[in-house]
Amino acid sequence: MRGLPHLVLERRRLPADGGLAINLPGNAIQALAELDLREQIEQAGHPIGRREYRTSADRLLFAVDEDRFWGEALRPRSLRRSDLLAMLGDGMPEETIRRGAIVRSVVPDARGPLLSLKDNTTIASSLVVGADGVHSLVRRQMFDTAAGTAPALLAQASWRFMAPNPGVRCWTVWADAAGMVLLMPISESEVYGWAAVTAPVQSGRGVEALLDMAANLPCRVRNTILDAVASPETLHHSPLEDVRLSRWQGSGMVLIGDAAHATAPVWAQGAALGMEDAISLGDLLSSSPDIPATLAAFEALRRPRVAHVQRMTDRMSRAARLPPLLRNMLLPFLGPRSYRQTYEPLRRSA
Ligand SMILES: Cc1cc2nc3c(=O)[nH]c(=O)nc-3n(C[C@H](O)[C@H](O)[C@H](O)COP(=O)(O)OP(=O)(O)OC[C@H]3O[C@@H](n4cnc5c(N)ncnc54)[C@H](O)[C@@H]3O)c2cc1C
Repeated sequence: MRGLPHLVLERRRLPADGGLAINLPGNAIQALAELDLREQIEQAGHPIGRREYRTSADRLLFAVDEDRFWGEALRPRSLRRSDLLAMLGDGMPEETIRRGAIVRSVVPDARGPLLSLKDNTTIASSLVVGADGVHSLVRRQMFDTAAGTAPALLAQASWRFMAPNPGVRCWTVWADAAGMVLLMPISESEVYGWAAVTAPVQSGRGVEALLDMAANLPCRVRNTILDAVASPETLHHSPLEDVRLSRWQGSGMVLIGDAAHATAPVWAQGAALGMEDAISLGDLLSSSPDIPATLAAFEALRRPRVAHVQRMTDRMSRAARLPPLLRNMLLPFLGPRSYRQTYEPLRRSA
């Protein structure tokens, strides 16, 4: 934290172990490099050099040479979320992180916000950074129950899973009117999968809907989903939620990451934007003691980049909802252009 005194309160008792994977585009790699973690991500992350968008019948609509777009230094990577968290936490002094600390309330006070924990302890602070995710308690306390500050549900029927790699060599999406499946290798032998059912289906929102959707997919994709459904402990139901706020800071509190701007993972920007937020905030705080002015400067600095990602997410989501025939005709032209228009501004430092 740029030499600033700090304390991390984390409700989980143990660091995550195993679990799902994550895709890190080039600007997430850049953020990790700024945190002196370039070597670690190059060792732990599986290189993702290419993206393919396919129909449910396996016809290639378009591909993107990500290696060429980002270059070797910013090559996108995939890895387990637990490995990313371990990398970020490595070397943090034990006394700066309190695990099993569940924050129950944050109350503004003339001398700075007061935090109350579930174990009945209270902590006085000069600044609270709400990096507490899409259902952020800090956000609820900042905005009370103001309309429009709760997350909006974009899709309920979405699942994530890990499975043996059926021979998928790059980030690949298969989509049709019923939904989409993404498979992304995290090694030669293992893939991460994300499946979303987008059309209303007879079979409701349970795994039956997932199986119905998978029935039209190429054999290796269908079998991977069947494998995942057969081991329910590996299948994570993942509703998609979106947070859009008119303000991220005030009264000695600031929101970063999903707490401020959770977005559908169309462009895999969640981790990148969260890490960039943290880096920018740390830099600004370490160069000025004026907290209100620094928080306002942080918001002014970060808003345009976040708004760009939200705009491009909305645009791709609209294209995905077009009638399949039209979408399959348009995507070979729109897809590569949207990729460039989304990531070109993100290639420049935050
Ligand atoms: C289906 C799906 C796929 C995705 N795929 C990608 C992807 O490929 N790439 C990508 O970059 N992003 C992806 N994302 C988004 C990404 O997961 C998030 O943007 C990212 O995890 C946000 O990080 P965060 O630190 O802001 O919040 P979180 O990861 O949610 O972390 C919040 C932390 O706060 C703690 N906490 C919460 N409340 C309290 C409390 N009261 N007291 C104490 N601790 C608390 C939690 O335990 C947690 O550790 C995906 C999201 C979904 C839903």
